[in-house]
Amino acid sequence: MPTPPQLTPAQRSAALAKSTAARQVRAAIKARVKAGELSLSAILTLAVNDEAIAKMRVAELLESFAGVGKVRALAILEKLNISPTRRIQGLGVSQRENLLKEFPDRVAAAQRGKLLVLSGPGGVGKSTVAKVLRESGEFWVSISATTRTARHNEVDGVDYFFYTDEEFDNAVKSALFLEWANFAGARYGTPRKPVEDALRDGKSVLLEIEIAGAKQVKERAPEAVLVFLEPPSWEELVSRLEGRGTDSPERRAARLELAQEELAQAGFFDISLVNERVEEVVAHLISLVTQR
Ligand code: 5GP
Repeated sequence: MPTPPQLTPAQRSAALAKSTAARQVRAAIKARVKAGELSLSAILTLAVNDEAIAKMRVAELLESFAGVGKVRALAILEKLNISPTRRIQGLGVSQRENLLKEFPDRVAAAQRGKLLVLSGPGGVGKSTVAKVLRESGEFWVSISATTRTARHNEVDGVDYFFYTDEEFDNAVKSALFLEWANFAGARYGTPRKPVEDALRDGKSVLLEIEIAGAKQVKERAPEAVLVFLEPPSWEELVSRLEGRGTDSPERRAARLELAQEELAQAGFFDISLVNERVEEVVAHLISLVTQR
C-alpha cells in the first residue's frame, strides 16, 4: 500500500477550507432547489464549471427537491439504473436524459403564476372586481367565450368572445376550454391556452366564472385558489339583480332562483369574501397572489 502523502499544516488547512467551501456551495444549491429556484437542468449546467457541485451525490441532490425525500430519491435512482453513490460528474449521457425526464419542470411549477378563480352568485359584483383587478395590472384576467348575445356596452374580444352555438360546440369538441358551463340559458367557457401561457409566464391569472365552472377548474388544477364572493345580504343581491336594466324580466327571475342555489355552494370554496367594498375585496385578492 502506498503511504498517503504527508500534508504540510498549510496544505491541510487549505484542503479543509476547500471542503468547507464545497459544503457551503452544496448547502446553498440544495436550499435553492428546495425553494424551487433551481431546476435539475440548471444544476447539471452549473456542475460543468463547479467542482463542488460536480462532486455532489445525485441522491443528495434529488432528496432536496420538494416532495422527494430519501426513499423516493433512491427509488428513482434504482428505476433509472443509477448507483445510489453516483456523483453528478459520473452521470452518463442517457442517465442525465432520464433524470431530466423525471424532473422536467419542477422549477417551472414554482415560478408559475397563481391561478385564482373568482366565483359567486350572479349579481354579486364579480365582474366589477375583475375589471378593477385587470386595471391594477396585478392579474391577467381571462376573457371567456359565451353564446349569449352581447349587451349594448360589451365589445367582442374585450368583455367576451361572442360565439355562435356552432363555434362553441367546435371549441368544446376540440377541448379548447379549461372549463365550460351552462348558465341562465347560455354557455360560457374559459379558453385554455391563454390561461396556460399566462401561468407559464409567471403571471397571476384571474378567472371570473360561475360555480359549476369553478368546480371543474379545481378538479383539473387543484392548486387553483377558489374564492367565493358573497353579497352583504340577500336583499342587497336582489336589489342588484333587479336594478340591472340589461336583462329581461324572465332572465332576471331565472337569475334570482339560480342565485339562491349558488349561495348554498360557498362551502366548496377555499375562501369566502363578503363584497362590502370593492377596494377591500381587490386588496385581499392581490394579497393572495403577492404573498410568497
Ligand atoms: P354574464 O352573462 O352576466 O356576463 O355572466 C353570467 C355568469 O357567467 C357569471 O356568473 C359569470 O361569472 C359567468 N361566466 C363568465 N365567463 C365564464 C366562463 O368562462 N365559464 C363559466 N363557467 N362561467 C362564466
